[in-house]
Amino acid sequence: MPGKNTHITAGVVSAVPAIVLCKKAAGRALSPITAAGILAASVAGSTLPDRLEPADCPNHRGFLHSVVAGTVAFLLVPECLNAIRSIAESETEALFYNSREEECKREILLSFLCFITASLFGFLSHQILDVFTPAGLPVLGK
Ligand SMILES: [Zn+2]
Repeated sequence: MPGKNTHITAGVVSAVPAIVLCKKAAGRALSPITAAGILAASVAGSTLPDRLEPADCPNHRGFLHSVVAGTVAFLLVPECLNAIRSIAESETEALFYNSREEECKREILLSFLCFITASLFGFLSHQILDVFTPAGLPVLGK
């Protein structure tokens, strides 16, 4: 069974494609704060299942350790990237009409969606590592 450090490492590694895809969806460079947040969110996502469903018994794998949860997370990634793309496009379209406040709101929303995307990547890294254990992943949990 992969330990906490393995999942944290996978979370760090998962942040790389998350940053690349979020940057591509945004169509511009991400701020260093957003990039750091993506890294933190990916690590948080990679450790979340074991924090909420700790490995304190052989049959600990509940819904967060299930094929269904992994599939939902996988399907949410392109949705988040599309939402980032939409925000970035609306940013460009309304460039001359934006107030500073609207720009800030848009930036916060874009960063938030990047963090959600990164946490999904981290979460998926956890699922991938756990599916290759002898216990595997249950379809729906326990
Ligand atoms: Zn686990």
